[in-house]
Amino acid sequence: MSLRGWLGTPVLVLPIQLLVQPLAPVPLDAQQLASAEGAPPPPTAHATSYDGVFDELLHLRPMADRVAEVSNLVLQRDVARFSLQSGHLYLLSPVNGRTVAAVFRGKGSFAFAPTTAVEKDRLRRFENTEALESPFTELMLVFADGTLEELEGAVKFGPGVVPGEVQGIAGQSLKFLAEEDSRTFEPDLMGAFLNGERSELFYAHIKRAGGGPLMFMLNPNEFEAVRLHSKVTRRGYDRRSEVVTQFPRQDRRRDGRVSGERLRQADIQSYVMEVSLPPTGIGEIGFSATATMQIVADTAVGPWVVFELFEKLRVDSASWEGGEKATVVRGKDSPLLWVLLDGQIRPGDVRTLRLHYRGDLIDRFGDFFLIKSSAAWYPRSLEGRSLAKFDLTFTTGSNYLLASVGDRVDSTTSGRTTRTRWVTPGRIRNASFNLGLFEGYDVQEKGVPPVTVMVSEEAHKKLARRYVQQRNMRERVGADVTGSLRFFQQVYGPPPVRRFYATEIPGWHGEAFPGMVHLSWVTFQDTRDDGEDEVFRAHEVAHQWWGIGVDFASYHDQWLSEGFSNFSGLWYLQTVSKDNDKYFDMLRQWRSSILLREGEPGPISLGYRVFASRDDDLDDYQTVVYKKGAWVVHMLRVLMLDLKTMSDDRFTAMMKDFYGRYEGRRASTEDFQRVVERHTGAEMGWFFDQWVHSTAIPTYRVAHRTEAAENGQFRVRLKVRQEGVPEGFQMFVPVTLDLGKDRKARVRVKVKGPVSEIELPLMPAEPKGVKFNDLEGVLAEVKTTGWD
Ligand SMILES: [Zn+2]
Repeated sequence: MSLRGWLGTPVLVLPIQLLVQPLAPVPLDAQQLASAEGAPPPPTAHATSYDGVFDELLHLRPMADRVAEVSNLVLQRDVARFSLQSGHLYLLSPVNGRTVAAVFRGKGSFAFAPTTAVEKDRLRRFENTEALESPFTELMLVFADGTLEELEGAVKFGPGVVPGEVQGIAGQSLKFLAEEDSRTFEPDLMGAFLNGERSELFYAHIKRAGGGPLMFMLNPNEFEAVRLHSKVTRRGYDRRSEVVTQFPRQDRRRDGRVSGERLRQADIQSYVMEVSLPPTGIGEIGFSATATMQIVADTAVGPWVVFELFEKLRVDSASWEGGEKATVVRGKDSPLLWVLLDGQIRPGDVRTLRLHYRGDLIDRFGDFFLIKSSAAWYPRSLEGRSLAKFDLTFTTGSNYLLASVGDRVDSTTSGRTTRTRWVTPGRIRNASFNLGLFEGYDVQEKGVPPVTVMVSEEAHKKLARRYVQQRNMRERVGADVTGSLRFFQQVYGPPPVRRFYATEIPGWHGEAFPGMVHLSWVTFQDTRDDGEDEVFRAHEVAHQWWGIGVDFASYHDQWLSEGFSNFSGLWYLQTVSKDNDKYFDMLRQWRSSILLREGEPGPISLGYRVFASRDDDLDDYQTVVYKKGAWVVHMLRVLMLDLKTMSDDRFTAMMKDFYGRYEGRRASTEDFQRVVERHTGAEMGWFFDQWVHSTAIPTYRVAHRTEAAENGQFRVRLKVRQEGVPEGFQMFVPVTLDLGKDRKARVRVKVKGPVSEIELPLMPAEPKGVKFNDLEGVLAEVKTTGWD
């Protein structure tokens, strides 16, 4: 059985099945936006109906009086070029009173070339070229930019013949944008049309002469605004298209002030929630909630704004602060919740919305309860990482034990009902809860936050009839949670929580929230002793520091959460097992899976995008971001190790410094690099380029020779052939010489280029063994060879 840990994040579970990307807000002030794109227009005077706009989009059709013959027309959108060599253009029926779509049929070509090495590589993996030049016969455009004016300036639209195929082209393209049953449309396009907005938003569905369709989008609501998608061909995969490549517009670069993925979205800054979790007659647990939410925005948005909400939840009613009814739209099984504000809201404005909703959130398995959406059980921004305060009151049957985030400020039981209230002292990015037929097991140790382990002993007793079972489940889990909390606060600094809950879930993964973790039932049940359980539990605990305490700046930096937590789990394992074997065995095991996929998925900094449906390997994200990410931290640890004293102090001081500097903020890989440089005193760009931004892993073929030297000393020479990496690849590799009588000599040698001949300092005795790449100092394959 394999356990997986991850921090609740939208990047693997995309919010909707359409052309929606993992999304993140970026603080961008209104001025900046205004200067970049012109001031946003005032909202349309009439309240636009969602259903009206959705129906107009779904039934876009060619108009017989809006046809033009076209030749040699070029549309350029960032690096994408559409050449309409010859054919006809058909404008489609208006949406919310304006023309927003067109179909081209004829002879055309699409040119597209990313400019960075990583994105060129992505395109090559998907399309076998670094610069696309694809002939097409059909093209559908959907736009909120000046495309109509551009077309009208080049060709003359008038009455003409509309072949039947034109409607079909529109229909085929719309399948990637719209889902009729849930009345869901790609949210950025939908928002622009609902709000009558003009922006640079532009979408093209390209039906190529050969190969599947391509979808291009220029989306100014994303920091990485330029995107190319292709169709997912795998059956059973829950998305229709996936990203091939994405990057910022050519005139935009990420600077230090910008983090996250998403620009211009509505956020919720505080939640006051009454959550009812009543037992149902058949032993299940129901869910209904009243959420009072403060909607804000960091740039002018609206009046229509959109949030994510778990698709199985239905809205009963919505009202504004004063009690007047609010207009919200919630398609059946749609993951989106649309809210109509009284107008645009601007930075500083707050609108308080009260929402009553309910639905099928909790499933029962045996005596376990599964919360089907751990974080989208309340409405939240599309990006899902915005910070908010939570004041949560839960009402449950008194036989259930419940834990949530923040401080439990109140708990009362009357009859068979228990109410508990939980308040977060500050703003956090995900709130969750867990409940079950739990017994609570408290671990109070001096110097660490009190820990409560919540485990379903009864459920395990039933399982014990069929499966081997750990005897001391709660004690073992409690010991690791407390032990790792203690260890991490020692090496990283005080945790951002005062109390901690380790709760069991009937799933195969773990997930971390402030002060609470969900842990797979397997880690309670397990009797294995290879250290995987310790690493798994400590990984989830470590997220209190990495991911929650210090959040990552963008998806490119997610290894600062997952790789760091994985390394932390390993480091904890080393300290509790009190020998190094398990630590190094686990590292070697991770190396094997990394080497199996070497060069395939992409670099660590590609984040979730290393996973592609075409690659067939569902574990790529784990392999690269978790396992290789942990290896990178381990390599820094060895690089900073004092080989004389074997002291970790420099590394520990560096990690503590990084945590202290960025606690409560988002950090990027570059931020981390700067801290590493401060503590190594050396420029470290080469290290991060090699290991975080590239995929190559060296193979060292190593030979050594010893000869007697003056004064009874010995001269040791190494010849190292480096393979599988670019010419300039370099590392400092630990070498340990066994000098007998328990004496060891440790040195670090620099290996760079195809062949290195290295003479070590004179040794006082003849070495009985030479261990190249000791301490697994470099993620590499080492092979011993003869001298020539
Ligand atoms: Zn994790």
